[in-house]
Amino acid sequence: MRLAGKTALITGAASGLGAAAVERLSREGCRICLGDIQEEEGRALASTLGDNGFFSRCDVTREEDLATAVDATVERYGQLDILFHSAGIVGAVGPLATTPGEEWRFSIDVLLNGTFYAMKHAARVMAPQGSGSIITMASTAGVMGGLGPHAYAAAKHGVVGLTKNVAAELARHGVRVNSIAAASMATPMVANVMTGDPGDIEGAKAQLAELSPLRGRPGLAEDVANAVLWLASDESGYTTGHTLTTDAGITVGATPAGPAFAEYSP
Ligand code: NAD
Repeated sequence: MRLAGKTALITGAASGLGAAAVERLSREGCRICLGDIQEEEGRALASTLGDNGFFSRCDVTREEDLATAVDATVERYGQLDILFHSAGIVGAVGPLATTPGEEWRFSIDVLLNGTFYAMKHAARVMAPQGSGSIITMASTAGVMGGLGPHAYAAAKHGVVGLTKNVAAELARHGVRVNSIAAASMATPMVANVMTGDPGDIEGAKAQLAELSPLRGRPGLAEDVANAVLWLASDESGYTTGHTLTTDAGITVGATPAGPAFAEYSP
């Protein structure tokens, strides 16, 4: 019960990393507001938590929806200790020359503006409270070039930068702000990209296992949920402004074949 007595708002809670975090944090005694635009799936998952969870329809491109979800959490549970902002999309894909401006703007709206709204309204409650842990969802594409579509990479770099800046502002209020930079993990989003079927998690796992620098070990939603748990809990109490990778070493140059310099080793 590492989160006994704590409450969380999790966006993107109906699927993938958000849903895995709901499961992991609730097992540690956390009460959770589940925010998402997928109402049916979100309500179904919330109902498995009984009185320890509820669903709030929340489109992260609408600042008022984030304000409502934060207020609903405080009304129901009296406080807000944790924000895990996981809602996201792949967004605009393709070469620069053929990326429509409208798709670019929508991607930035969901991935970056949504993060700003969520942090802003969580901080509105956490700063006067004098405590809290905000966890944003970045990506390996947010710390290195060449790992994702342009709008996605730009937005996730923005998430990393915003996380650092907000961490610097909120430290004196006792609020910690960290980010998770995940490589491809087996979720519906990645299954859709890899197999064309968001439900084919096993197919995604098999492909990710082959591509993994950590021999045969695919990235799992639970790996991110465990990182969320650590950042949410008091165990990470002196850590803020950090970007925590869950990437099998991809951002430090690990590949399934080993490092590029291996063949030159004595
Ligand atoms: P997912 O598609 O399984 O889940 C995303 C959830 O976000 C869905 O439930 C969806 O309904 C919700 N969502 C989408 N747009 C929304 C909006 N406007 N308002 C509210 N909710 C909205 O994806 P996932 O793999 O769980 O990804 C979650 C986050 O993690 C995203 O920000 C993604 O960019 C990031 N991420 C994922 C991976 C990965 O490999 N899965 C890696 C790095 C970063």
